[in-house]
Amino acid sequence: MTQDVGRGRLALIAGGGIGGLSAAASLARLGFRVKIFEQADDFREVGAGIQVGPNGVRAIKNLGLLPQVSEFTWLPPALVMRDAFDASDICRIPLDDRFRQRFQEPYAVIHRADLLGVLLQACRENPQIELFTSSRLAQVDELDERVRITLEDGRRIDGDLLIGADGLRSVVRQTIIGDGAPRPPRYVVYRGVVERHRVPDALWEPEVVMWTGPDADFVHYPLRRGELFNLVVTFKSPIDLDPFDIAGSYDDMRAPYESFHPTVRTLLEMVPVERKWLVTDRAPMHGWSQGHATLIGDAAHPMLQYMAQGACQAIEDVAQLVDELRAQPDDLPAALNTYAGKRYHRTARVQFSARQMIELCQVSGALADLRAKYFRERSAEQLHDGLAWLYSPLAGERFA
Ligand SMILES: Cc1cc2nc3c(=O)[nH]c(=O)nc-3n(C[C@H](O)[C@H](O)[C@H](O)COP(=O)(O)OP(=O)(O)OC[C@H]3O[C@@H](n4cnc5c(N)ncnc54)[C@H](O)[C@@H]3O)c2cc1C
Repeated sequence: MTQDVGRGRLALIAGGGIGGLSAAASLARLGFRVKIFEQADDFREVGAGIQVGPNGVRAIKNLGLLPQVSEFTWLPPALVMRDAFDASDICRIPLDDRFRQRFQEPYAVIHRADLLGVLLQACRENPQIELFTSSRLAQVDELDERVRITLEDGRRIDGDLLIGADGLRSVVRQTIIGDGAPRPPRYVVYRGVVERHRVPDALWEPEVVMWTGPDADFVHYPLRRGELFNLVVTFKSPIDLDPFDIAGSYDDMRAPYESFHPTVRTLLEMVPVERKWLVTDRAPMHGWSQGHATLIGDAAHPMLQYMAQGACQAIEDVAQLVDELRAQPDDLPAALNTYAGKRYHRTARVQFSARQMIELCQVSGALADLRAKYFRERSAEQLHDGLAWLYSPLAGERFA
C-alpha cells in the first residue's frame, strides 16, 4: 500500500517553489505528514513561462497532475533557432507526431504561475500538508534518528525527513555540502508576458523561437492556450555583475540588441524592465544527502536555462525520491542516499550541457557559420536523436 510508506512520519520541506510543492504533494500521497516552509509571504512564481520537455511532462504525469496542468499548456509545433540579423532559420526541430511517438509525451510550454497554481491547489486540498509562509529556514541540525530545523524567527521543528528545495542559494545545501555561493553571474535576463492582442499578427508565431546573435539572444513563445506571449531577453554582461543589484533599465536591455533584426527590436519594447534577473549556476556536485536530509531541484543542481530543464529536473528528482522511499521505507537515510546517487550523473550532464548550449547559442563569426552548416545538414530524425538521452523514458521509470 502506497500510504504505508510514510506511516504518518513527518517530512519537512524548505522552499515552496516548483520543486518543494511537487515534493509535498508526492510525499503526502505516500502517507507522510508534510510541513512546507516558504520564506516569502506567499507562494508565487515569476511572471514568465517555462518549457517542459517530454521528460518533464512525464514527471508531471507521475505526480498525478497532468490533466490539471494540460488545461493551461500550449503545444508548440517546433523549436526554432534563428539568425538575429537576417532572420533565416538555423535549426528547426519539429515537435510533431514523430517526436511525440518517439518520446511518448509532447513538448509543452506553460506559464509558471499556472504550474505553481496547480501544485499549490493539490497541496491545499490534502489535509496531510501544512503550508507556512514568511518562514525562512536558518539552521539544520541532525538529531539521532531525526532532523531539526530552526527558522529565522526562532521556531524549531523536528521531523523524520528534510527536503531542501530552497533554490540556488540553499541553506540546506550549506549544511550538507557547504560549498558557499554559486558562481558569480555572467548573464542578464529580462522577461515578461504580454497578452496576445498586443502582439502584431505579423510577429506572432506558434513555435518556441530563439533569435541568436553574438553574446545575446531573444526567445518568444505563446503561453496559456495561446492567450499570452512570453518574451525572454538574455545577454552576456560586458562588466562584472553585483548578484543582488536587480534594478533594470531600457538602456541596459536594448544595448546588446541594437543591430538585431527589426522584429526583435519591436518585440523587445514590450519586455518589462523594472527588474532583471542575473542567472548563474554551480558545478555539479555529488553527495546531496546526509542522514535524514536531502536536496532537490536548484538546491541540488542549479543550472543555466539553456536546456530548459531546471524545473523538469526538479520534478524528476521527486519521482526518483518517491521510488526510493517506496523501495526502502524502513531506512530513510539509505533511501535518500540512493536517490541522490541515482540522480547525480543525469543532472550533472544537464548542467554541463546547459553551459555548452549558451556558448553554442551566442557564438559569432565563423563559429556561427559552422553552427548553421551543422544544423542545416541534419534531418529531423537526427535532431531528435540528439535529444534522446534527455527526453526518452528513463530505465526503470515507473508511474505512480
Ligand atoms: C530565465 C530562466 C528560464 C528558465 N526556463 C526554464 C524552462 O524553460 N524549463 C525548465 O524546466 N526550467 C527553466 N528554468 C529553471 C527553473 O526556473 C528552475 O530550475 C526551477 O524553478 C527550480 O525550482 P526549485 O523549486 O528547485 O527552486 P526555486 O524555484 O528557486 O524555489 C525555491 C523556493 O525556496 C524559497 N526559499 C529559498 N531559501 C529559503 C529558506 N532558507 N527558507 C524557506 N524558503 C526558502 C524561495 O523563496 C523559493 O520560493 C529557467 C530559469 C531561468 C532563470
